[in-house]
Amino acid sequence: LTNADGSIGETIYGQMTKRAAELGAVNLGQGAPGTEPPEELIAATAAAMRAGFNQYAPGQGFPQLLEAVAQQRQRDFGQQVDPAEVLYTAGATEGLTAATLALLPRGGTVVAFEPFYDSYPAAITAAGGSLHTVAILPDGRGGFAPDWAEFDPLVAEVRPAIILINTPHNPTGHIFSTEELAHIGRAAESVDAWVLTDEVYEQLVLTESAHVPPAVAIDDAERVVTVSSAGKSWNTTGWKVGWVIASPTVRQAIQTVKQFLTFTASGPMQIGMAEMLSGDSRFVAENRASLRDRAEVLVPACRSVPGAVVSTPQAGYFTVMDFAELTDLDAFELNDLLGREFGLIGIPVPALCRPGSPAYDAYRSSIRYSFCKSASDVSKGAELFTALG
Ligand code: PMP
Ligand code: GLN
Repeated sequence: LTNADGSIGETIYGQMTKRAAELGAVNLGQGAPGTEPPEELIAATAAAMRAGFNQYAPGQGFPQLLEAVAQQRQRDFGQQVDPAEVLYTAGATEGLTAATLALLPRGGTVVAFEPFYDSYPAAITAAGGSLHTVAILPDGRGGFAPDWAEFDPLVAEVRPAIILINTPHNPTGHIFSTEELAHIGRAAESVDAWVLTDEVYEQLVLTESAHVPPAVAIDDAERVVTVSSAGKSWNTTGWKVGWVIASPTVRQAIQTVKQFLTFTASGPMQIGMAEMLSGDSRFVAENRASLRDRAEVLVPACRSVPGAVVSTPQAGYFTVMDFAELTDLDAFELNDLLGREFGLIGIPVPALCRPGSPAYDAYRSSIRYSFCKSASDVSKGAELFTALG
């Protein structure tokens, strides 16, 4: 198992968090929120602990959580879900790994978009398969677009068992449109592939656009396996409350794998989160507005650096800053230099790409900065960029 860039060892997120601490630098790297979950969620979870939800939960998850996820998908995205289709997982990471292990035959291929979340290649390798990618590239207008000219030929060539879509996408914030998703659905149908989704940023759309679940846009919803989690929407990344939604037989196959990864986890958190998901979503809206405010502090400050090309995030936690006009250093060297000299650490985007790929080359000098950190850290980062400008 290796990191995306081929190195073996700790993930880039762990490495950069340590490096920021070592240097006493502002950490705009790992996407771990600097703001807290709602008090009602903490109270509901504490009440569940006092009420005795402290031993192993049922393998599929507590019925309250399964029902609440089904309600939330229907209410927020018009996705019809039966609780029998929902499986509780220890975060989206476990859901994605369990689904990959369950659905990918040994020697099978996965087509995903690049840059990608670093657990994908590890899970695919563990399943004995291989990853093939289509780049999501800057569109020259502050946004990004998948390289569609590469997509259909690649699917026809490698005939993937799984097409994996992360929407909204980390780190670009690209939101796949209904048309793009329908196109992917037709491609999946043409080779009889599963569509596996990663929707952890589903609530964090910062513009007028809307998140469309692939299961809603794709005609043959039976082939879609939806994965999401509560971490980003509720500032609970440490709770590892996530879920998979798939037709009952597929859900059962994924549960069979999951039972030997963790068996079950986070019992009282499931109960607390169930209350939030079936209640009103005021906190989620406020959290989104607060993230938008923090983006509006950081992004213009990044833009004040002459020659830097800075993305306008449509969704998620991140802006991508390309320094190619300013330096010959690659993103790894530059990130460390900025850490040492200016006290600011981000995530080098090539760490989320495979060396030699078109995406790796396109993001050679790009660093990802997170604005989900505390308002004070985001302001400190912004001041550093303003000073650089
Ligand atoms: N997918 C993406 C695209 C992510 O950015 C992250 C980071 N949180 C995850 C999955 C992991 O989610 P979880 O913490 O719920 O396992
Ligand atoms: N998803 C988070 C990010 O992209 C980090 C998750 C992790 O640290 N593994 O920053």
